[in-house]
Amino acid sequence: MDVDVLVVGAGLAGLHTATLLARAGHDVLLAERRPRLVGAIRTTGIFVRRTLDDFALPPECLGPPIRRVVLYPPSLRRPVELVSDRDEYRVGDMGPLYVEAARTAAAAGVRVLLGTRYEGRGRTSFLLTGPDGPIRVRARFVVGADGARSRVARDLALDRNRHLLTGAEEVFAVPASDRPPTFHCVIDPAIAPGYLAWVVDDGRHAHVGVAGYADRFPHGMRRALARFSAAAPGLDGVRRPGVDCVDGDEAAEAAGVERRGGPIPVGGVLRRISCVDGLLVGDAAGAVSPLTAGGLDPCLRLSEHAATVLDEALRAGRPDALAHYDGGALRAHFRGRLALRRGLARVRTPVVATAAFALLRTSPGRSATRRILFGDASFPDRPHRKYSR
Ligand SMILES: Cc1cc2nc3c(=O)[nH]c(=O)nc-3n(C[C@H](O)[C@H](O)[C@H](O)COP(=O)(O)OP(=O)(O)OC[C@H]3O[C@@H](n4cnc5c(N)ncnc54)[C@H](O)[C@@H]3O)c2cc1C
Repeated sequence: MDVDVLVVGAGLAGLHTATLLARAGHDVLLAERRPRLVGAIRTTGIFVRRTLDDFALPPECLGPPIRRVVLYPPSLRRPVELVSDRDEYRVGDMGPLYVEAARTAAAAGVRVLLGTRYEGRGRTSFLLTGPDGPIRVRARFVVGADGARSRVARDLALDRNRHLLTGAEEVFAVPASDRPPTFHCVIDPAIAPGYLAWVVDDGRHAHVGVAGYADRFPHGMRRALARFSAAAPGLDGVRRPGVDCVDGDEAAEAAGVERRGGPIPVGGVLRRISCVDGLLVGDAAGAVSPLTAGGLDPCLRLSEHAATVLDEALRAGRPDALAHYDGGALRAHFRGRLALRRGLARVRTPVVATAAFALLRTSPGRSATRRILFGDASFPDRPHRKYSR
């Protein structure tokens, strides 16, 4: 096959980049190893207000708005409650959302190949393996939208993510109730070393998860999740399916629990994310907030920038246009958040977490936390077209 652009990976970054390029008139092939986009989901899917304002995500794929955040110390006692007067978050129904985004991409002219793995780069072409065997693709440019451990980044000799958290969560339906939709966060390095444990309950689904540095979970992440899940805050009176399915994913699924998980790059945007043959977007480029570990807003914004640069390069026939796609320049924007990430990484014991929590209870502590949770800071804006279906 001969195409203008080969995009590897149909997460939101790959789907959005491919759609924008096809709309600009380019011939785009999108290869995704997952046979079905509703399976093997790796994200909780919390979209922040700025994303909801700037990108036209399908409303039927979004849960009810969340305005309330409750933060807990390791003891779970005397939590801090923060309530915004605006709708701050909505949780995406990610399977249908990916399917809808793929439909949009196909309608724009993208050839979407599911069940098709990118295997590597040859001298003159890229090798994919699909359900019917190998496919050789000659592409002017390749886009690595293949996640935190990007194979494309390796093949293009670009920078690769080294600073990673690992997260895992369980998702299950909850019965309608009068509980206000709430994002509960527990700061306890014994169950979530270097990050948070969470319960997101939007009144339709509950997501119960932990994330942290993989080598710091004393008994492994699965055990930490099971321990947290057994006493997770905010779910009093909610019938919990599959609580005894500690190891078996299939048994959990049969009980109505979906298990998700994966790596989260938190070292900031990588410096070298483009070369004359292509570029990286989304997690592959390290485009995740080092502090909150949110990557959905950054992946959509960086995709807009990537599509603009690739469009220019294809129109002008000048691969050096990709030099404008510079991770170093974007990285500068995250200095403060990288410093806070280093601070969070140093909270290694429940005693330190409890002491840090005392600061959070003060008036300046609460204001700073409100700014992080409800503020307008986001990935740097680029001139972009509104994302529409
Ligand atoms: C447990 C967890 C919870 C999270 N929760 C949130 C949240 O609530 N809000 C938020 O903003 N961020 C969250 N994040 C981060 C966010 O999910 C990611 O930053 C975002 O999804 C990245 O999108 P992406 O398209 O770059 O990568 P991905 O969504 O990872 O997509 C990469 C795609 O590439 C495919 N692929 C990989 N290798 C190949 C190959 N060789 N050939 C073909 N296809 C390939 C994969 O199958 C995948 O579909 C979370 C992350 C984790 C792990």
